Amino acid sequence: MVVELISVGTEILLGNIVNTNAAYLSRECALLGLSLYHQSSIGDNEERLYEAIERALKRSDIVILSGGLGPTKDDLTKETAAKVMGLSLVEDPHSKEQIAEYFKQIHAKVVTENNWKQSMIPEGAIVIDNDNGTAPGLILEKDGKSLILLPGPPRELIPMFQKDIAPYLSQLEPDMIVSETVKVCGIGESQAETMISDLIDEQSNPTIAPYAKLGEVHFRITAKAKDEVIARKLILPMVEELKNRFKEKVYTTLEEETLEESIYHLLKDKGLKLTTAESCSGGLLAGRIVNVPGVSEVFQQGFITYSNAAKRNLIGVKKSTLEEFGAVSPQTAKEMAKGCALTMGSEVGLSTTGIAGPGGGTDEKPVGLVYIGCYYKGKTIAKEFHFQGNRSKVRDSAVVQALILLRECILEDAK
Ligand code: ATP
Repeated sequence: MVVELISVGTEILLGNIVNTNAAYLSRECALLGLSLYHQSSIGDNEERLYEAIERALKRSDIVILSGGLGPTKDDLTKETAAKVMGLSLVEDPHSKEQIAEYFKQIHAKVVTENNWKQSMIPEGAIVIDNDNGTAPGLILEKDGKSLILLPGPPRELIPMFQKDIAPYLSQLEPDMIVSETVKVCGIGESQAETMISDLIDEQSNPTIAPYAKLGEVHFRITAKAKDEVIARKLILPMVEELKNRFKEKVYTTLEEETLEESIYHLLKDKGLKLTTAESCSGGLLAGRIVNVPGVSEVFQQGFITYSNAAKRNLIGVKKSTLEEFGAVSPQTAKEMAKGCALTMGSEVGLSTTGIAGPGGGTDEKPVGLVYIGCYYKGKTIAKEFHFQGNRSKVRDSAVVQALILLRECILEDAK
């Protein structure tokens, strides 16, 4: 079944509010197995809204409208939808009761006349109670098509969708959609895509969609089937194929698991303690590690050693190293990683030092040059990177590459 979305409201067109309803509804419809080919935003204008609904009903089986159901004059959705469907508006006693009950609950002193406008519904419409506001949702059915009208405020739309609309839609569309994600790190997006281009070219059910993140690529594998068991059976061989192709670059197949979380598990399993020393990333690395609940079991300390004095005094980087090679050098990165680990008695130390920009670069050491050091059970290595982008991108890149280097050291140790 094909579903289409129309978001109503001049505020959306002008960019005064972000259309989060469309993002939410698109995601939910996809999960319900519905195909979505079109979505549009229309201002509070009757003529254009009429045209939009008419066009949508011609090409889609289900049209979902959000917004414009309120009591004011510019709320036109219900009236316009009824006109397109050729239905007249009649008073719905149940909606009237609901509205009265809502105002009683919020102890409203005055209920203005226009609020009762919301109890007028297109003849024969299915009324969906609004537990969080006054405008009821409506479903209008005609000639095998469904027009679904939902209130604009997300705190009203989302609960209504979950409670009543999703079950209504799943009864229209018996197939369901199931997805799984394979997350890889330490490989560029284009290289990752090239490695599975044959699978992408041949895809039908399941489909495979790559999403690039900084330092990572996530592959979402999606199958459509009558029930979840069949869908998962379709997905499984594809997950195995990706694991086979990307080998240890796959850090998880769990939807919720992050890179830092997977590293936390690796460190915990090996009984290793970690300390960080950051220069150019200035605490971002420690911040990302501390995102993981329970990480105190493995994470001991995060040093921010921005100045040379801090590098020397806090984690014992040698004055001669800083003078001879500079703060941004593999030698300093190594001494930082080893120094922070030994200071805290950790088996693992991770460091960043680089030029985040926009100033401070030279021909020899340009903006984006970053060294990452990793001390691992007595051995220390440093890796050189040349990151592109602004200051924040360089710092974020340093963090993700530090995590990837740490992961590589742990995996290498396991071989
Ligand atoms: P109400 O009963 O509150 O009048 P309504 O159905 O008439 O609801 P609108 O008047 O169109 O809805 O929008 C009310 C508010 O809901 C907007 O000011 C905005 O905060 C939020 N809203 C509306 N549409 C969207 C959307 N597509 N995405 C996110 N928020 C929205």
